[in-house]
Amino acid sequence: MITRFAPSPTGPLHLGHAFSAITAWRRAQEAGGTFLLRIEDLDQDRSKPEWDAQIFEDLAWLGLDWSRPVRRQSEHLSEYGQAIDRLAARGLVFPCSCTRGDIRAALSAPQEGALATGPDGLVYPGTCRGRSMESRRPGDALRLDIRKALATIPGALSFLEHGRLRQGQHDIDPDSLIEGTGDIVLSRRDGAVAYHLAVVHDDALQGVTEVVRGADLFDATPVQVLLQALLGLPTPDYDHHDLVRDDAGRRLAKRDDARAIATYRDDGLTPQDIRAKIALQFPEFSTKIR
Ligand code: GLU
Repeated sequence: MITRFAPSPTGPLHLGHAFSAITAWRRAQEAGGTFLLRIEDLDQDRSKPEWDAQIFEDLAWLGLDWSRPVRRQSEHLSEYGQAIDRLAARGLVFPCSCTRGDIRAALSAPQEGALATGPDGLVYPGTCRGRSMESRRPGDALRLDIRKALATIPGALSFLEHGRLRQGQHDIDPDSLIEGTGDIVLSRRDGAVAYHLAVVHDDALQGVTEVVRGADLFDATPVQVLLQALLGLPTPDYDHHDLVRDDAGRRLAKRDDARAIATYRDDGLTPQDIRAKIALQFPEFSTKIR
């Protein structure tokens, strides 16, 4: 069993992150397996060294340990680039110059109904889908042609979910992927590698057998399973856990500094207090560290 916690250093870790990290760490402990920490710092505008350092401090303070060296995605950009090249060589990738505004404008044409949103926001309307890789210009994003990609997959795609919210085997419906997710970005207009590609690449490379993460990423799983199949990578099991919420029932966001682990620590709370706070929302969550 290899599990991982894969935060992006774009803000302070909050209670939800603590829940996720402790859950992944425990899954590995219980199975005599390995727990990994991976820093997902592909977004160079939003990732900051101070948040990066604080992740290590917070997790160690919570009583967690992880196998080293820690993988930092920004140090492996060429590997992700090669994976995109492999997909492009098979004709599954197209360059795209559309801005967010262009996409919105194309989707708001009068004949369109309610706008479909997927794990990455608005579902791409396909404006640049006919373009060849030879027409790629600086500043173009690269997108996966999801229809073509699905057509290359001989069998059915599925994944096993352990999380109590949607426990069981999930068969992936190609039509829902086309309509609800669409031609995802693999590399952004600023050149940054997109999350889905890096996450499947790294989970496979690091031998992750169970992906423990928040239920907000459940809808991103089908397209990640598709990418695994396209790249010849194994599909891990998944454990999407409930989201920690604030008193008003809203899910916590990075901007929720008030519930940041570091804020609680500065206020004199102990790691045990943090676990007790999580257990208030999820009574089955044990407040013992092991
Ligand atoms: N890096 C992602 C985040 O911070 C999580 C990726 C994952 O767990 O698959 O939200």
